[in-house]
Amino acid sequence: MVNGSRTNGPTGTGRTERQAARRRPSLEALIRDIRACRICRDEPVGTPLPHEPRPVFQVSERATICVAGQAPGTRVHASGRPFTDPSGDRLREWMGVDSATFYDQNRIAIVPMGFCFPGQDGRGADLPPRRECPPAWRAKLMAGLPNIRLVLAVGAYAQGWHLGALAGRSLTETVSAWREIAAATDPVVVPLPHPSWRNNAWLKKNPWFGAELLPVLRDRVAEELGRS
Ligand code: SF4
Repeated sequence: MVNGSRTNGPTGTGRTERQAARRRPSLEALIRDIRACRICRDEPVGTPLPHEPRPVFQVSERATICVAGQAPGTRVHASGRPFTDPSGDRLREWMGVDSATFYDQNRIAIVPMGFCFPGQDGRGADLPPRRECPPAWRAKLMAGLPNIRLVLAVGAYAQGWHLGALAGRSLTETVSAWREIAAATDPVVVPLPHPSWRNNAWLKKNPWFGAELLPVLRDRVAEELGRS
């Protein structure tokens, strides 16, 4: 989220926020609603999802780190658990965390831009995250995670949503500006490329990512985990 003014006044906006919070469904109710969501099958924008929706995410009100990913692939769709694939192995390495820590929902929330596997195109590449998903759920779910202090925006879709006007015209432009973006956001947003093997060429072409960004990311993740 981009830096903005906080509204803690004793009257007016503060009361409005408390009233909004009371109207907001509990996180548990929201999780139930998302798990039951069939929008992309029953009321799709364009082509319906070609399989039964299976929303995959992990959240807890206590989590302080949010991995804002893209969408499940085939393996994650089958396992029902986020990042149970080689991309997940690489992401955990980037973050400097083991599986037990990564899957501790009280420490790390994992919230893709599209909760369900979107299917594949004719060449076997995963389709983009379903565009129905963010307007239906994302703002509500992020509002239910009040302790997030660090957001890993993985890929251009998550960067577009979490950074708005701070996002560059390309993934490279956005990730290259990681220092400025981290300084301008609260919670702090760190933009990352997707850890898929499809980005191996990008990683090779941009060695500063491993040499400069990743050490800072690991320190920041360790700092947040040390507090939680
Ligand atoms: S991708 Fe999102 S909007 Fe579509 S069915 Fe899954 S949870 Fe619902």
